[in-house]
Amino acid sequence: MKESTHLVCAGRHPERFGGVVNTPIFRASTILAGSMAEWEEMKRARAAEEPGATTYGRYGTPTTHALEEAIAGLEGGYRSLVFPSGLAAVSTALTALLSAGDHVLVTDSAYSPTRAFLERVLARFGVEVETYDPVDGKPIEALLRPNTRVVYVESPGSETFDIQDIPAISAAAHKHGAYVVMDNTWGTPLYFKPFVHGVDVSIQAATKYIVGHSDAMLGVVTCNRDTWPLVKQTTHDMGQTAGPDDIYLALRGLRTLAVRLQRHWQSGLRVAQWLEQQPQVEAVLHPALPSHPGHALWKRDFTGACGLFSVVLRTTSKASLTAFIDALEHFGLGVSWGGYESLVIPFTPGCAGPRWPYQGQAVRLHVGLEDPQDLIDDLRRGLMACSTQDARAQNEEADYDQTCPT
Ligand SMILES: *Cc1c(COP(=O)(O)O)cnc(C)c1O
Repeated sequence: MKESTHLVCAGRHPERFGGVVNTPIFRASTILAGSMAEWEEMKRARAAEEPGATTYGRYGTPTTHALEEAIAGLEGGYRSLVFPSGLAAVSTALTALLSAGDHVLVTDSAYSPTRAFLERVLARFGVEVETYDPVDGKPIEALLRPNTRVVYVESPGSETFDIQDIPAISAAAHKHGAYVVMDNTWGTPLYFKPFVHGVDVSIQAATKYIVGHSDAMLGVVTCNRDTWPLVKQTTHDMGQTAGPDDIYLALRGLRTLAVRLQRHWQSGLRVAQWLEQQPQVEAVLHPALPSHPGHALWKRDFTGACGLFSVVLRTTSKASLTAFIDALEHFGLGVSWGGYESLVIPFTPGCAGPRWPYQGQAVRLHVGLEDPQDLIDDLRRGLMACSTQDARAQNEEADYDQTCPT
């Protein structure tokens, strides 16, 4: 089955729901058994982890199981679990795999709330957290210790868009008995296949492209056979559960993921290529551009790109950055991404030195489903406003120099 066909079929069982095309929204806490025999059967089915077994709302309803089945299949993993947010998926997966005395390696370009969870929460419980540089060329092997239990990867990294060599990292981690946990939100289940590349646990912030319409929060963890019992147990121990209405929105978004992504990819690349040629731009950090340091790895391991990338402006002035952003009409100023609409946010990179060789102000763009020419025209206006502000500041400085001779 080809990917777009799989997207249409994944997790759907109309025969179970009176022929209804979409798995309905099941709102439930209690699931009744009709007799003691049925009660025993429910308990048996749950213990045997039969797909679709429902015993209590917290463990999911048929709505939940439809999304879990769909994402597990698309990511190429064994089983999935749904969470009320992407960050809940991240924090639960890490809690499941790490214990006091363990060492975890986390890339410095990981989504910053992920690093904060490790450093603020798991560190309090005796987990040793070490940040590593995803691109310095030093094999991860040198950082692995006998007590390294998890290597956390995110490729491309948030904001910096560094591409990691996931197969090489996985091979090294496995040799030392460590699990590889990946945030695969940028690649989505369509453009990066984590389990083929050696990952043990893959995380989706489904809030982004899977929901796809900026109207619900959701996360999904997908496991291989080894990690499944650990992650499932901790998820249940912590009482993690997501609401059926949000899950329905994710299932609905999923059906159009392939066509939406194709458009985000094409438009994003077109906008990135245009930006790269503008004199006001210092750098465009988009893995599908040949100028990107991780381009060869991206081409080797990914089958597409989404609409999210970073741009470094030449200006170092906050006022000019402000002029740029305030002149944009089609790029909303706000966090998150993966919806149908374009977004911009300024950021200060979490890394420095050779890891961030740029001088100018940085923004992250999400290219939505608008016509790319409208977006380019919008960015042109923004860059002009930025230049005007730079020129104004220069003139003021010149005036000042004239009136105040030293
Ligand atoms: C947004 C995001 C998350 C967290 O998802 P939420 O649903 O907002 O909790 C995790 N990882 C990445 C890369 C993200 O961009």
